[in-house]
Amino acid sequence: MDCLFCAIAKGEIPSKKVYEDEQVYAFYDIAPAAPVHFLVIPKTHIESCGAITPENSAVVAHCFEVIAQCAKELGFTDFRVVSNCGDQAGQSVKHLHFHVLSGRDMTWPPG
Ligand code: 5GP
Ligand code: ZN
Repeated sequence: MDCLFCAIAKGEIPSKKVYEDEQVYAFYDIAPAAPVHFLVIPKTHIESCGAITPENSAVVAHCFEVIAQCAKELGFTDFRVVSNCGDQAGQSVKHLHFHVLSGRDMTWPPG
């Protein structure tokens, strides 16, 4: 399977690491949409939020623990977590990822 974020999680494609453990990898987005913008991904390949099941959801909970921990360590309290699911929602990489955006005012609803 040819997946960009699987390759990034394995270190085959370089990225700027925010956090890593056995299950999860977090790295700065190559095209930041806010002063702070990183992505949190499970190391196992899950296509999107639409492919979360009882069998694989533990790593999703862990992603959110990592997000909270990274926010504390990087020193921000206000942020947005986004996961685009499917083409119409703007998902360009088909490996589950949570965008973490911080450091500027944000509007709602998103475009
Ligand atoms: P999506 O559009 O699927 O919601 O988010 C994919 C994100 O991955 C985009 O924000 C894009 O800038 C980022 N991205 C795409 N390719 C790379 C890459 O090679 N390295 C990094 N660090 N980010 C990437
Ligand atoms: Zn993948």
